[in-house]
Amino acid sequence: MARRTPREVADKWKLATRLVRGGTNRSDFGETCEAIFMTSGFRYDNAEIAEARFKGEAEGFTYSRLGNPTTAGFEERMALLEGAEVARATSSGMAAVNAALMCQLKSGDRVVSARALFGSCRYILDDILPRFGVAVDYVEGSDIESWRRALATPATVAFLETPANPTLDVIDIAAVCDLAHKAGARVVIDNVFATPVLQRPFEFGCDVVVYSATKHIDGQGRCLGGAVLCRRDFFDDYLNQYLRHTGPSLSPFNAWLLLKGLETLDLRIERHCDNALSVARFLEGAEAKGRIRKVSYPGLESHPQHNLALAQMSGKGGSIITIEVEGGRAGAFALMNRLGLIDISNNLGDSKTLITHPASTTHQRLPAPEREHLGITEGFMRLSVGLEDARDLIDDLDQAIG
Ligand SMILES: *Cc1c(COP(=O)(O)O)cnc(C)c1O
Repeated sequence: MARRTPREVADKWKLATRLVRGGTNRSDFGETCEAIFMTSGFRYDNAEIAEARFKGEAEGFTYSRLGNPTTAGFEERMALLEGAEVARATSSGMAAVNAALMCQLKSGDRVVSARALFGSCRYILDDILPRFGVAVDYVEGSDIESWRRALATPATVAFLETPANPTLDVIDIAAVCDLAHKAGARVVIDNVFATPVLQRPFEFGCDVVVYSATKHIDGQGRCLGGAVLCRRDFFDDYLNQYLRHTGPSLSPFNAWLLLKGLETLDLRIERHCDNALSVARFLEGAEAKGRIRKVSYPGLESHPQHNLALAQMSGKGGSIITIEVEGGRAGAFALMNRLGLIDISNNLGDSKTLITHPASTTHQRLPAPEREHLGITEGFMRLSVGLEDARDLIDDLDQAIG
């Protein structure tokens, strides 16, 4: 039989130990690295066992849409990392966002959301939910009075990203949770930019946390994946049956890649943050000399929510920086096209440093006035700082800024 460390024991491990050993479920072969169980189904020793497993009266797997040993290892490692009662893996970050919202919403419900969100999250709130009779009201995420006004009326869900993609607005999680709970709403947080190493929203009262594991958790640009983390009661009442029957399941192979990614997550995040701060300091100098219009990074004192960011994010600023240049789209494209080392790509949280122009890619679907309102101007770029030597990144940006 497989051997797994009991949760009560693993819960006492420090972060790095949880990342390396959490959820490991060793088979009789005694392999050191987690095995990949590439199987869609499972066999039963007799028909009675099949019946008992389907009734939930016997332990064991039945079908990989519902559960798989490799995927379960990833889920347990994620739950341990956050101190969550339950974690469920999904095939992508968007599958996680969609499931976390759709499993609990019905016609007549109301969602209050921060305005600055990843483009596909905005699509769910702008286009899908209203088709099913769910009202969505936006607030300015970093303005707590804006949340207070919106949550003076009852709501079902409050949704936010902090720091937000791509504007890097930082939102006071504890304050929003307090207001949302008084309004009868559950708080769902997309914690991609902060990562579970820097920010654990459950500690601030959040109810459901979602991840795109495609980003820092894999962190090496290899596969898509996602996760939803929650309490046991939310899982039993809403999430479990929704996931089982709609099937946004993670491939066991991808779960294995993500398990391997988690083993080095804390080390990588430390380097990502150190590199990002060095690059941001260089860009701050470029801004002072008028070479760029603006740099924004939660780890810089000039960020409007700098102190809150450090308090919520373990004293770090994360791995994402934004840059705005003069000359609109032409100015931004010219800078990007002059880069020699940094790649133009819309992914983020990768070991390679990547730059994107949100107005023409990830956020092109938003109407221009809404983009301008969010600060996603034509001269605005998002830089995901990777694991290279910061000096090479600075040299590349220095020559590209011109
Ligand atoms: C990338 C991203 C997502 C979507 O994740 P996928 O794995 O690409 O589906 C959701 N939210 C945020 C904040 C993201 O950056």
